[in-house]
Amino acid sequence: MPMERGKFIVFEGLDGSGKTTQAGLLARFFEFQGRGVVSTKEPTEESDAGKIIKKILVREETRSPKEFQELFAEDRKAHLNAVILPALEAGKIVISDRYFLSSIAFGSIGCDFEWLIGLNSGFPNPDITFILNVSPEHCIERIYAHKRDIKLFERPEALKKAWETYQKLPGRFPNVHIIDGERPIDPIFEEI
Ligand code: ADP
Repeated sequence: MPMERGKFIVFEGLDGSGKTTQAGLLARFFEFQGRGVVSTKEPTEESDAGKIIKKILVREETRSPKEFQELFAEDRKAHLNAVILPALEAGKIVISDRYFLSSIAFGSIGCDFEWLIGLNSGFPNPDITFILNVSPEHCIERIYAHKRDIKLFERPEALKKAWETYQKLPGRFPNVHIIDGERPIDPIFEEI
């Protein structure tokens, strides 16, 4: 019998929205069931494009907004081929912290929405995507409370634009669910 293809599950939302927390809980949930899980995230630091993205995020290099988004798409293509598709073919559950909806939400800070959708149109849709909906103000509070690095995307006005764009995405792509992320960790996980 051919091996069943795995499932591709994506968490989206602003930094501080709880993606890492919920992705970790979901990975453990499946592992307890004896399922093979691959946890991953974007942008990667493995591809050439991913290495440039990291330098741009720490402001060691600059690119135009469009060039920046093209780098994310290049990194995503490499990530799909190196990690995501092989794991799915091996029957694993792949849980990714960010995928192409991040490019559309954060890219909309400096690029046209439809151009971003076009740039990302060749990527396969996940089986399910959860957008953890936490307001920019609450994300900033959480990030400061835990003294995490403030990177390029975390300026308040930029976060607000990305947050607004996320709200538009469930209507444009299949199986995208907005989850109220402003509740305690357990009820959010129950719903997921
Ligand atoms: P992300 O991966 O989206 O940046 P994290 O999962 O790292 O978010 O969470 C950011 C911070 O908020 C962490 O310190 C985490 O413990 C905390 N956190 C996560 N989920 C919740 C929640 N539902 N309520 C309050 N704090 C949370």
